[in-house]
Amino acid sequence: MPSVRKLKPVPELWTIFQKLFRAYGPQHWWPAESPLEVVIGAVLTQNTAWQNVERAMANLKHARLLNLDLLCRTPAGRIVELIRPAGYYNIKARRLLSVLNWLKEQGGFAKLRATPTSRLRAGLLDCYGVGPETADSILLYALNRPVFVLDAYTRRILTRYGLIQGDEPYEELRLWIEESLAPFLKKDPRATVRVFNEFHALFVRLAKTHCRSLPRCPGCPLNSR
Ligand code: SF4
Repeated sequence: MPSVRKLKPVPELWTIFQKLFRAYGPQHWWPAESPLEVVIGAVLTQNTAWQNVERAMANLKHARLLNLDLLCRTPAGRIVELIRPAGYYNIKARRLLSVLNWLKEQGGFAKLRATPTSRLRAGLLDCYGVGPETADSILLYALNRPVFVLDAYTRRILTRYGLIQGDEPYEELRLWIEESLAPFLKKDPRATVRVFNEFHALFVRLAKTHCRSLPRCPGCPLNSR
């Protein structure tokens, strides 16, 4: 199969990371108390504001269901009721149960520690309705795997910065970002996870403060090369 990689690695990505980190500092992502909450949040956050995810999560917590086994045994209708604030609740309940049942079949979070990242990624992508951004969010933030999460904000910022066209396939951009950052991370998996974690969160922060739909360039940390 031909490689999807076409863009050449660039050192500017590391410069962008440094500028954003200097400007905003650590972002303390993902906003969750456990890997299970990360998984639930990653599925529920699709097409909705984070506040709605928090309301759905509060319902699950109040129902004492934030437990992998309990959730897998809960009827889909009950999950639908509880996650209603997150919108698209029927489809999201189906997606959530698909991921949770897959996790359970694998033996739960502890058992996954020994599984290679490529196998985990393939397993997640096989779950109903799970796309690469959701799979990679789970890999990075719930399972501490060195996989970059590429979202629409990152795509928008890097397009405006002039590094990409903006319509490249997800895999091409993900691999390009990972390869561009690799020389600065010295094959240290922990450092890689830390930087990928922060960088994604910093892109989100920039997209919400300066690089919005209508950019507010004055004062933007990237407004000088
Ligand atoms: S806000 Fe302006 S300067 Fe900052 S990244 Fe976006 S387009 Fe570039």
